[in-house]
Amino acid sequence: MSTTTLRLVLGDQLSFENPVLVNAEPQRDWVLLAEVAEEATYVPHNRHKIALIFSAMRHFADALRERGFKVIYRSFDEGVSSLRHAAEDALKTSKASALLVTAPGEYRLRTQIQAWESELGVPVYLQEDARFLASLDYFESWASGRKQLRMEYFYREMRRHYKLLLDEDGEPEGGKWNYDADNRKGWRAQTEVPERPAVAADTITREVIELVEREFPGNPGDLNEFRLAVTSSDAQSQFDWFCKHALTDFGSYQDALAEESPWMFHGLISMYLNIGLLEPLPVCRQVEIAWREGHCSLAAAEGFIRQVLGWREYVRGIYWHAMPDYALRNTFEARRALPAWFWTGDTDMRCLSRALRQSLDLGYAHHIQRLMVIGNFALLAGLDVEQVCEWYLAVYVDAFEWVELPNTLGMALHGDNGLMASKPYAASGKYIQRQGNHCSACRYDPKQTTGENACPYNSLYWHFIDRHQDYLTKNARMGLIIGGWKKRDAADREAIVAWGDRILATVLD
Ligand code: FAD
Repeated sequence: MSTTTLRLVLGDQLSFENPVLVNAEPQRDWVLLAEVAEEATYVPHNRHKIALIFSAMRHFADALRERGFKVIYRSFDEGVSSLRHAAEDALKTSKASALLVTAPGEYRLRTQIQAWESELGVPVYLQEDARFLASLDYFESWASGRKQLRMEYFYREMRRHYKLLLDEDGEPEGGKWNYDADNRKGWRAQTEVPERPAVAADTITREVIELVEREFPGNPGDLNEFRLAVTSSDAQSQFDWFCKHALTDFGSYQDALAEESPWMFHGLISMYLNIGLLEPLPVCRQVEIAWREGHCSLAAAEGFIRQVLGWREYVRGIYWHAMPDYALRNTFEARRALPAWFWTGDTDMRCLSRALRQSLDLGYAHHIQRLMVIGNFALLAGLDVEQVCEWYLAVYVDAFEWVELPNTLGMALHGDNGLMASKPYAASGKYIQRQGNHCSACRYDPKQTTGENACPYNSLYWHFIDRHQDYLTKNARMGLIIGGWKKRDAADREAIVAWGDRILATVLD
């Protein structure tokens, strides 16, 4: 392109691998970054997320300037209402004759940008986001003609394609594709959780934190706890720390729940991957090297690579495959209002309270907290799917709809009629007890199903099984559970369902 162009870099595209920057000419082209009200307020985002993105954008703008780019930066204080307005102003300033944007990750924004060409009166070129490992065309061709879109088969193809953890014959290292069975240990404080280093806030981050405290007083997020990296080099150092100190135990305790630590041995990298500070392939290769050099087990490396190469790419594929009607699906017609305590964490259920509080305060919960503590509760209680999805989109620092929606609506709430998960992730308090040590600090007893001390997850679990038994009976993987429930004494079943009703009427208030 020989004429001057304006290149819009969105707040979650902060990478020099961003296609709109790859062919840009610093002397000729302009780059626009804008902190705008519409993007910062479409849900009450966690303040950690806003601070992360604004600070990372400001640092990235500096990195662009250092490489000689002409940068137009609109800060939140300037009161620019939308990206379209920012683009309109910047086209005037730069006198650019075309606008280039890398396709946004969210359907909402992509639809808006598709209308810009006629609204702005210049050609708008939408580039595919090349920072993912499976292009949308690749996913579609994988999906087409398949009855079921199971992640495991997608993941195997991706392993072959990227030659990750393969032996010399191109077969999976160790003879198996998946070591999940080795990665399910419960937590009884068997080992020390290493102290995780925080990244010290520099002047830019401190200014952004002040701005976010001032402008978003009612949003969740305790900014005294802000500890995130805001540049790619600091994000890489955080990941290096993980590979050195936590990866060894990542596999074993991937499904564990701990009183002691919000992040245990997890990577804490989703927020960096999702905004462009880390790239997925180098992350996977680094973990493979760590295994080849003997720093972790094959189960740990495979477990980690499956999350990034498999799940992350797969959920993005599902999102674009099934949108826009995906967002409206609701298999169980779950419509119970989200309890107000989802915004405070104020509940006696210890596991749930801990998971909610850290989600609100830090913007982070690990996968099993999101899926089997919070999501499981929402599924069992029949909480409104749309409200639950909006809550997840608001509270997590790594939440963008392309990844949040399939995980919440599909995986956690089974709202997509099993497109993503072969059976609902429904579990009683016994699962939570087995996986962690919250129950010993809880006022409820996971061994009891009815009565004042009974763990609410237990009666709600059976309440869920009972009220959806017609649907669940059709699922071969639920057969044993449904059969067992139906064989139980009728009076027992009635008492459990009645207790479940009581929980729904009281605990959810
Ligand atoms: P680790 O446990 O260290 O895993 C490594 C990486 O694998 C993650 O950083 C992430 O990039 C990737 N990954 C793992 N599981 C998934 C998954 N199911 N989908 C996509 N990527 C995955 N992840 C988000 O990035 N944003 C979200 O908004 C989000 N919402 C979720 C909502 C629900 C209900 C559930 C069940 C999961 C959600 N996840 C989401 C996926 C996952 O829980 C987070 O990616 C993970 O907890 C982030 O922490 P971590 O970096 O320490 O991950």
